[in-house]
Amino acid sequence: MKNTFVMEDVSIFTGGGDIIENGAIYIEKGIVKDIGKGKKTGGVPVISGKGRWITPGFINAHVHVIMEPKDPDSNIRVETPQRRTVRAVENLKKYLYSGITYIRDAGGPDYANIEAEKCLREGIIEGPGMLTPVRALSITGGHGKQWARICDGKEEVRKAAREMVAAGADVIKVIASNTETDEFMLTQEEIRMAVEEAGRAGKKTMAHATSLRGIRNAVLAGIESIEHASRLDDAIIEEILKRNVYIVPTLSASYFSLEYYRQAGYPEEFIAQREASWEKSVESFKKALKAGVKIAFGTDSGTRNNLHEKSLYELVLMVRHGMTQEQALTSATKTAAELLGIEGDYGTLKAGKKADFVVFESNPLENIEIVMKPLEIYQGGRNILRENKYYN
Ligand SMILES: [Zn+2]
Repeated sequence: MKNTFVMEDVSIFTGGGDIIENGAIYIEKGIVKDIGKGKKTGGVPVISGKGRWITPGFINAHVHVIMEPKDPDSNIRVETPQRRTVRAVENLKKYLYSGITYIRDAGGPDYANIEAEKCLREGIIEGPGMLTPVRALSITGGHGKQWARICDGKEEVRKAAREMVAAGADVIKVIASNTETDEFMLTQEEIRMAVEEAGRAGKKTMAHATSLRGIRNAVLAGIESIEHASRLDDAIIEEILKRNVYIVPTLSASYFSLEYYRQAGYPEEFIAQREASWEKSVESFKKALKAGVKIAFGTDSGTRNNLHEKSLYELVLMVRHGMTQEQALTSATKTAAELLGIEGDYGTLKAGKKADFVVFESNPLENIEIVMKPLEIYQGGRNILRENKYYN
């Protein structure tokens, strides 16, 4: 029977708070049937886990599938939609082959991302599971003005949100702040309209928000997740906790772009600005972590020097700045699944869930850097690095 087997002699980080050492996982038709200690054989093929470790497939809550990290600016502004679609198809493989079995795209300039998602769903191409807002909503002169869906005033926001729903959006994304300044951003009323329209269509919401005022507007308007969240104070953290809002810190974005600017020899003054900005992001991350805010793994991959295939490095960064290794793994599995609303099937390894999991040589709870070196990746019980779709 296809995608049916038992993997024995394996230690399991279930994502749901349990760690099973020297256990076994029983997969039936791509779904986890049983998991636990000892042998679970019952006339099905047995694979030895060779004493290795497995985790649930990772879920990246913020990526840009159409973006090219080597030159994101011209790629997002100048390339044709056709070329971006091809790029998305290739980038999707980079996620899957690095252990990311589900992603939430965070928007692009046209419909390339949603076409890629439809092709995934129809099995035309291979890649992780995917959600997308299609295009983000921003205002005239605002952040993303070259690629977002521009809308000014509540009625235009309503129309733009409906357009995205009609195009197949799984989530509505708003640009709630500019990068560093408080000019040119959607008002709280405009964001509330987007949230209302999303709610009417049964869609979730996310906000790009980096400045404190933008974060406040988005949180008070009822947004479910704050992306980047790079300026947090105690008052807004209190509000975030009260309203059960997630944050997606995307530390990788500032970390890898800063690395690029240093290597490329940008002027000292510019580097100093970027360093200050990085410090503030880390400070906000630490504050949120200490306060117990729900933090989901997301990277903004596709932005400058922020490679799609290296997105799990975010876990290393999160651990370096205060998370335990278990917290980092949980943010990339259970917490991210809950944020995306896919926790019924993904994010933890339990009976009834999809058999999406990653195999590692050693225990990632002891050395988080091992997440950069997955040995095998299973999606729906299929070993995707070994079982090529066309030759099996
Ligand atoms: Zn982004």
